[in-house]
Amino acid sequence: MSPRQTKLLMIDDSRLVRRLVRGYVSGVVDRVIEAAEPGQGLRLAVTAAPSVILLDMNLPTMSGLDVCKLLHRRQETREIPVLFMTGEESSTMVARGLDAGAIDYIRKPFEAAEVQARVRSALRQHERFEYLRDQATRDSLTGLLNRRSFDQSLIHHANLCRDTALASTLLMIDLDHFKHINDSYGHPAGDAVLARTASLLAQTMPSGAQLFRYGGEEIAALLPDCDASNASEHAHRFLSELRRAEVSVDASVVKWTASVGCSTLKPAPECCPFAWLASADNALYVAKRTGRDRVVCTTSDCLRLPMNGIAPLK
Ligand code: GH3
Ligand code: MG
Ligand code: MG
Repeated sequence: MSPRQTKLLMIDDSRLVRRLVRGYVSGVVDRVIEAAEPGQGLRLAVTAAPSVILLDMNLPTMSGLDVCKLLHRRQETREIPVLFMTGEESSTMVARGLDAGAIDYIRKPFEAAEVQARVRSALRQHERFEYLRDQATRDSLTGLLNRRSFDQSLIHHANLCRDTALASTLLMIDLDHFKHINDSYGHPAGDAVLARTASLLAQTMPSGAQLFRYGGEEIAALLPDCDASNASEHAHRFLSELRRAEVSVDASVVKWTASVGCSTLKPAPECCPFAWLASADNALYVAKRTGRDRVVCTTSDCLRLPMNGIAPLK
């Protein structure tokens, strides 16, 4: 795993404290981001995705304890280690901070060595979490997100489509005659083909696309805010890249193709993720049945499960 940039978010209303602590931690983290008030701190915690947060307990407009609880409640910020900074001597305050979700605390007045050691300890904890999250959400062969991530993202994107009125497209991709590749060249060659397919997909999909290994030799791509013609263009480009790709096995060269089912979810008061998936699956089935190595697109209003047959757009 390549090392990620470490970022520390400091939420403190005192410019003096921020300058002091920044000096202490600048050699420990790659970047320091500052917020002078709680609202800005909460926003930065979501948008900047820091590796650790230093949080003052005495803030204007909202107490540090409440900020800590909010950080702990939100899914995007729940796992960021929070160290609170307090000038209070009482252990009651320390206990309340830890119960609010902080992992540790730093007492004022600060000692440089202690601040640095506690930040390093929080960074180690965050790194372990990121590693475990990667293990739990990624497929090791292709590096794509796994099926569990797909199930969660599909629901998330269907809700997003309903709430924002932006169309999103789901691509279901299945390698053609993949069993034949395994049978003719061996399983490791099949693995190499799968891995190459995933990396070509990552190169040809728009930024913002989420890519998943759905299962076996099936891959899914979720393209937020992407209409049918845009998605179709990307899918065709992916297939033409695939036609040019090769994997060498001993003295042989393996070539392969894939079929793509494409379903664009139209915003509606109810967007059913399962119907969306079924619609993309149906399109994939049509692509297979009509000759493979092609893209078939459809749209889904997702108000009901599509049954037999679909009307491909192209
Ligand atoms: P179609 O064009 O109809 O999709 O035919 P296919 O041969 O691709 O489909 P089929 O479902 O018959 O076979 C899929 C094969 O994919 C069977 C399975 O052994 C293989 N497979 C699934 N996962 C992996 C994997 O991780 N590595 C390798 N090498 N093969 C895999
Ligand atoms: Mg297949
Ligand atoms: Mg298959």
